Amino acid sequence: MRPLDREDASPEVKRFHQHLRQEVLPLRPSQYDISDTCNLFCEGCLFFAGSDHAGRRAADDLEAVDRFFAGEAARGVNYAEVAGAEPSLVEDKLVIMTRHIPHGVIYTNGTKKLTAEITHRLQISLWGLPKQSEKLRGADVVAKQVKNYRDDPRAIFVFTVTGDNVATIPDIVRFCADEGMRLSFNHYSPTESYLARLPAPAGARDDYFRFSDENDNLLLSRASLARSKDLIDAAMEQYPRTVLYDRAFNAWIHDPGGLHDLDPGTGVATHCACKITKSYRHFHADLTDAGEVKCATPNIACDSCRLYAQSLGTLLARRTRPALQGDGFEEWVRLWRLWYMLFWGNLPAEFDPAIAAPHRLAATVAEEAS
Ligand code: SF4
Ligand code: SF4
Repeated sequence: MRPLDREDASPEVKRFHQHLRQEVLPLRPSQYDISDTCNLFCEGCLFFAGSDHAGRRAADDLEAVDRFFAGEAARGVNYAEVAGAEPSLVEDKLVIMTRHIPHGVIYTNGTKKLTAEITHRLQISLWGLPKQSEKLRGADVVAKQVKNYRDDPRAIFVFTVTGDNVATIPDIVRFCADEGMRLSFNHYSPTESYLARLPAPAGARDDYFRFSDENDNLLLSRASLARSKDLIDAAMEQYPRTVLYDRAFNAWIHDPGGLHDLDPGTGVATHCACKITKSYRHFHADLTDAGEVKCATPNIACDSCRLYAQSLGTLLARRTRPALQGDGFEEWVRLWRLWYMLFWGNLPAEFDPAIAAPHRLAATVAEEAS
């Protein structure tokens, strides 16, 4: 009989698994849009692409917001995912949320420094260095992002890799390393609306669809996926203290065939772990439940969806049963380790030796000693 990978796991891996079970799991997340405005104009923005936010005014009655998050905590939510549009523009609501649901993640563009009262992990979206930021987001906000969050232990910078900026991955990584910032990666995942407008953009232009057409756009081709994978692999090797990523995840997220099987009738991913359920809900900025939409990013096309948080959640879910039966346990725990550093663990997030797989730890120590 083949020995169980789980029994063979190193003491560090076993210890981290135990820590996850005792301190983190089970997670009961939900997702909240909290603002209806943004101060940037990112090409292909997922929030402003669809109609589901249209006509909704963000709740501004703070007592109602307080009651809402108290209700969410009472419902059992222990992890808040806060996204659209730009959460930092409504700091007072984030402070209230933190009081009720102290664990979670806030996806922000980093142009406004958030008060220390907010304890959630902050994911600061980077779309490139100044020139690229200006082209893709309508403004060069890099210096402001760095000034606000370079020394903030809550912050991780997340570079959105697009077909347009993939070649700049080494520059971005070097920049973050030089500034002492921690960096991870997202992959641009187009909305249905973005894809539909590409073939005939004339007349379809707006603030979030300024320049894209069939020749110049953000889509990741097979060639750019392959290049992105190689460049991220190299970055992990060269900057182990800067880059928060995982080799197995890097291989999977760049699969040119896509990450999901699709329902032939609806085109919706059949085994995505981030679909809306009875307990995992998505709320609009007016505090209403978004209903039985497919997921919390319903405008995104499932066949090309490579959103990092959602994809990592799906890979973890798919690997859980085999891992607990002994197949791929260490690799699964290392994926959890990435999740933990991105979304939960001690601050600042870094490769904590106590949870590092031994070969990785040895490599890290050797590289940093050289
Ligand atoms: S920061 Fe960019 S992607 Fe995020 S809501 Fe604003 S315009 Fe959209
Ligand atoms: S997270 Fe992505 S793959 Fe999953 S349902 Fe939503 S759009 Fe589809």
